[in-house]
Amino acid sequence: MKRVTEERAERIAKAHACVNCGEYSFTRVSVTSAPEERVESEGVVWLVEMHCGVCGAELEIGIALDGKIVYAS
Ligand SMILES: [Zn+2]
Repeated sequence: MKRVTEERAERIAKAHACVNCGEYSFTRVSVTSAPEERVESEGVVWLVEMHCGVCGAELEIGIALDGKIVYAS
C-alpha cells in the first residue's frame, strides 16, 4: 500500500472539522511523521497539529497509512 504523502495528510486534516467548534478554519498547520513506535502500535503515520482560527483550540490529528483519520483531539 502506498503511504499517503505529507501534502495529502495536511489536506485530510484540514478537511476535518474542529473538534471544539465544528469550523474548518485552521492556522499554523504542521505535519510531522509519527515516531516508529506509534506507527507500530496505533498505525498512525502522520501527526498533524493545527490551531483553530475560529475558537483557538489546538488540535492533534493522527493519520493512518491509507489516509484515514485514526484520532482527532
Ligand atoms: Zn474551533
